[in-house]
Amino acid sequence: RIVYLNGAWLPEEDAKVSIFDRGFLFADAIYEVTGVVGGKLLEYQGHAARLQRSMAELGIACPLSPDELLEVHREIVRRNALEEGLIYLQISRGAADRDFAYPKDATPTLTLFTQAKAVLDNPKVATGISVVLLPDYRWARRDIKTVQLLYPSMAKMEATARGAEEAWLVEDGFVTEASAANAHIITAEGTLVTRPLSQAILHGITRASIVEIAQQAGIACEERAFTPEEAKAAAEAFMTSATNFVLPVVAIDGQPVGAGTPGPLTLKLRALYVARKVANAI
Ligand code: PLP
Repeated sequence: RIVYLNGAWLPEEDAKVSIFDRGFLFADAIYEVTGVVGGKLLEYQGHAARLQRSMAELGIACPLSPDELLEVHREIVRRNALEEGLIYLQISRGAADRDFAYPKDATPTLTLFTQAKAVLDNPKVATGISVVLLPDYRWARRDIKTVQLLYPSMAKMEATARGAEEAWLVEDGFVTEASAANAHIITAEGTLVTRPLSQAILHGITRASIVEIAQQAGIACEERAFTPEEAKAAAEAFMTSATNFVLPVVAIDGQPVGAGTPGPLTLKLRALYVARKVANAI
């Protein structure tokens, strides 16, 4: 792969970052993942806007202008002949002597790399996935997309150890989100229920689109927190993220959701989402 590091295009083995980089020492860095289909960027404007928001929250300045950032995304797709998969972007505050206080004059470290992946034909769409419920032990600013991902990694390991694919995290008796996706249910009445935006969850770009698409498709939508019990008793469940789009959840803690197969509204939302986003990719 050819990767991007602070203005340079390099073979991945030549891209080196200082051991004093605060991304490495403090997880003082933020990231974005943008899906690619047909060599084009999915939901780019949403990801770029969230990136700016995360950077503003942490006081990290982007070394590139918005136009330059888009051009770097396009260039990395070209240089890697990426047809389908994702672009990972990370900006850390940069390298400085180890000190908890932010350094005054560090230069941010900006890296991008690609990962080829079949995102359209995901075999898990047909089967759905199983999730387990785990306590949400992450920090309290999940709206900032930081690289502080150790607990989500631990949750994923625990889910795998219990024979499931993902974890849905629970805090104060309500589901927050999945370890790396937003969590949603559909009630017996056919209403989409999804947790409202707050600091408790990442403001998913896919989530926002699904709420909009559901409303346009005549599916009622309630933005409110739901309990694990409500999720287990729901007609359908699914999760959303940039590379999974809409992924059916067919079991929670070993209990089937609805019929235990991907739900019809879930599959409809996925189809509408994919059609619209692929058509509007840039
Ligand atoms: N929630 C968490 C914790 C995530 O890590 C992600 C993305 O990876 C999402 C939600 C989904 O966000 P998006 O749809 O913008 O990819």
